[in-house]
Amino acid sequence: MAETNYRMLAKQQATNRPMRVGKLHPESVEKFYSENTFNVYTAEGIPSTLKKELVPGQSLSKEQADLVAAAVSKWAISKGVSHFSHWFQPLTGSTAEKHDALLDFKNNLPIQRLTGKMLMQGEPDASSFPHGGSRSTFEARGYTSWDVTSPIFIMEGGNGKTMCIPTAFVSYTGDALDIKTPLLRSITRLSDAATKFMHLTGNTDVEFVQTNCGPEQEYFLVDKAFYYQRPDLIMTGRTLFGSLTARNQQLDDHYFGTIPSRVENFMQELEIELYRVGIPAKTRHNEVAPGQFELAPIFEDANIAADHNQLTMALIKKVAEKHDFVALLHEKPFAGINGSGKHLNWSMSDNLGRNLLEPGPKPHQNNRFLAVTAMVCEAVHRHADVIRGSVASHGNDHRLGANEAPPSIISVFLGETIERIFDAVREGASFDSKGEKFLDMGAEQLGRLTKDNTDRNRTSPFAFTGNRFEFRAVGSSATIGFPLTIVNAAVTELLVESNILIEADLKAGKSIDEALENLTRKWVKSSEKVIFSGDGYSDEWVKEAAKRGLPNLRTSADAFAVFDDVSKTKFLTETGVFTESEIQTRYNVAIERYNQLREIEFQTQIRMIEQHVIPHVVKYKSELVSVINGQKSAGVEGHVEKELLKRINFSAESLYSVTGELRGKLEETFAKEDKACSFSCATELLPLSQKAADLCNEIEEITPDKVWQLPTYLDMLFVR
Ligand code: ADP
Ligand code: MG
Repeated sequence: MAETNYRMLAKQQATNRPMRVGKLHPESVEKFYSENTFNVYTAEGIPSTLKKELVPGQSLSKEQADLVAAAVSKWAISKGVSHFSHWFQPLTGSTAEKHDALLDFKNNLPIQRLTGKMLMQGEPDASSFPHGGSRSTFEARGYTSWDVTSPIFIMEGGNGKTMCIPTAFVSYTGDALDIKTPLLRSITRLSDAATKFMHLTGNTDVEFVQTNCGPEQEYFLVDKAFYYQRPDLIMTGRTLFGSLTARNQQLDDHYFGTIPSRVENFMQELEIELYRVGIPAKTRHNEVAPGQFELAPIFEDANIAADHNQLTMALIKKVAEKHDFVALLHEKPFAGINGSGKHLNWSMSDNLGRNLLEPGPKPHQNNRFLAVTAMVCEAVHRHADVIRGSVASHGNDHRLGANEAPPSIISVFLGETIERIFDAVREGASFDSKGEKFLDMGAEQLGRLTKDNTDRNRTSPFAFTGNRFEFRAVGSSATIGFPLTIVNAAVTELLVESNILIEADLKAGKSIDEALENLTRKWVKSSEKVIFSGDGYSDEWVKEAAKRGLPNLRTSADAFAVFDDVSKTKFLTETGVFTESEIQTRYNVAIERYNQLREIEFQTQIRMIEQHVIPHVVKYKSELVSVINGQKSAGVEGHVEKELLKRINFSAESLYSVTGELRGKLEETFAKEDKACSFSCATELLPLSQKAADLCNEIEEITPDKVWQLPTYLDMLFVR
C-alpha cells in the first residue's frame, strides 16, 4: 500500500479552501464602529461630575463605584454579555484574563450583576505570573485595578460574550507586575514635564500633553494545513530550518502588490472586528516577503494604542483561523526572508491638539519645534543602550542587524532639511533671517520641507518622518508598552533638564526664543554622534558607529545586561517611571524567558531532525540502495544514484554529529545560572543550531519532493 503523503494532502486542502465570504457587516462603518466598547467618558448613566473624577489613580467611593458599575452592567447585559474579565498585561508578553460570570442569586433567583468592587479591583492568583524573583521579598499576592482611561470591550465567542475590563496589575506593596503601570506613569511624567515646557514657551492654555502612538503591525499568513505539519511553527512560532525558494523577495513584486483574494477577505473581516471594538484600522497592504502583510491603525493615545495593539494581535490570530490561516507574529518565521517588525510612530501633542513635533507657521513655533526635536535626539543619544534593550527578545535577535531590519545600533535619522539646519546650528549660525547662514524659520516653508525631505531611510531604527519619530526596531510580537515607556522616560528626562535651563535663561533676562535657541544648540551639539543618515545595513556603519562610541548590542544577551546596570537605568528611577526592584524584576524575567524559549527551540529542532529529517533520509537512501543493487545485478553502470547516495549520506552523517553535539551541550548550558546561560545560548548553541539547520536544508534540497513530508517554504509562502 502506498504511504500517505501528508504534505501533498495539505497542499490539496490549502488550494481548495472555500472562500469565507458574506460575513461583511451590512451597515456603514459609522453605524457599528465601537459598538462593542464602553467608554466611561461618553457613556450614558454616569453623571458628568463623576466623569471628571475618573482619572487614573483616583480612588472612588463605594457609592460612586457602584454607580459606574451599574451603568457598565446595564450596557453589558443589553449586549448579551454573560461574563466579565479583568484583562491585563503581565510580564509574559501577552495578555491575561480570568473570566467570571455575572451570575448571582437574589432571593434564590438567578440575576446578573456587576458591583463597583468587581469592576474596580480583582485578585488573580498572581503566583503563576512571572515575577522575576520579586516575590521572595514581597507579598506573594497582587491585584488588578481598572484603568478607567482605556475603554471596556466585548470579546465574542461562538456561544457567548465576555466583557474585558482593561486593568493594571500590581503587587500589594505597589510594585508594578505588568506592562501598563509603568507606561501610565511614563505618560503622566512626560505630560507634567511637557506641559511645564509649553507654559514656559508661552502656551499657558495647555492642560496636559499626550503621548501618541501609531503601531504598524506586520505578520505572516500560512495555511492551517501546513502549519499543523510543522512542529517548529507550533512550538516556537518560527521554522527552525527550511530551504529558501529560488524566488523569494528579490523581485520586490510582493510589496504593495495586489492582495490575494483569500487574504483580502480575511483583512476585511478583521477590520470589521477591529472597528466593532473601536480600533481605528486604516492601512492594509502586502509586505516585502511573500505571505507577509501589514496593518496600521490611526494613531491614538499611547496607553490606548498599547491596549489596542494587544487586542489587534489577538484578533489577527482569531480571524485568521476563521479563514483557515494561521497568523505568525514571530519576528522571523522564515530564515533568509524579510522578518516582521512593528514600527512605533511616536509623537507628543497638547490637549488642544498641537503636535510638539510639528513645525508651525511662525518662527517662534519653529524654535520650539527644533528644540523639542533636538531633545529627542539627545534622549536617544544618552539612552541608546536602554532603548535597544527595550526591544530585545529571542525573536528580534534574528531580525535586528540581519540586513532587512534596522541594525542593533540605535541611531537617529532626521532627513535632509533638519539635518542641514542642525549642522548650521552646530556651526553657530544665527537663527534670525539677517544671520549669515540664514535658517529660514518663517512661513510654512519648514513644515513643507520637513515633510518632503524625510525621504524614506528604511534602514534607520529611529527616524523622523515629518511630524513624528518612527521607532522601527520593535519586534512584531512585542508588547509595545515597554519600548514606549522607555522612550517616554528618556524624553521626560530631557524635558525636565530643558525646563531648568529655560528658567535660568528667562531669569537672566533672555527672551524665550533665545532660551529655545540655546537649548537647541546645546542638544544638537551633544547628540551629534547619534545622528546618521547613511545606510544602516552597511558594514561601514558598524565600523563608523564603533568609532563614534555608539553601543552595538548585537544579541538579547548583550542587550538585557543594560537592565542589570544601575548607572544605565538611573533615568528610569529618577523620572519615577520604575523602581529599582521593578527594573530588576524585568531583567530577571526577560533573561529567564529568553532561556526558556531558546531551550524549547533547541529541543524542538533536535526532535524534528530525529523524527522527520533522518527518517526521510533513511527512506530515500533505501530507495537509492535498492536501485544501485538492482543495477549491479542487472550489470548496468549508473553513477547518478551512487553520487546522490554519497551526497545525502555525507550531509546526514554531518547532521547527526552536529545534532549530537547540540544535545550534549544543552544540559550543561541550561544548568548554568541565567545570565551565563543566555550568553551560551547566543554564542555557542545558536551557531550549532544554525549549522544543523543548514544541513537540514541541504538534505531537503536533494531529497525528492514526494519523499519530503514537512511543508516547505514554497508551500507555506506561496500556496494558498
Ligand atoms: P508608512 O508609510 O510609514 O508605512 P503607515 O501609514 O503604514 O506609514 O503608518 C503610519 C502610522 O503613523 C499610522 O499608524 C499613523 O496613524 C501614524 N501617525 C501619523 N501621524 C502621527 C503622529 N503625529 N504621531 C504618531 N503617529 C502618527
Ligand atoms: Mg506602513
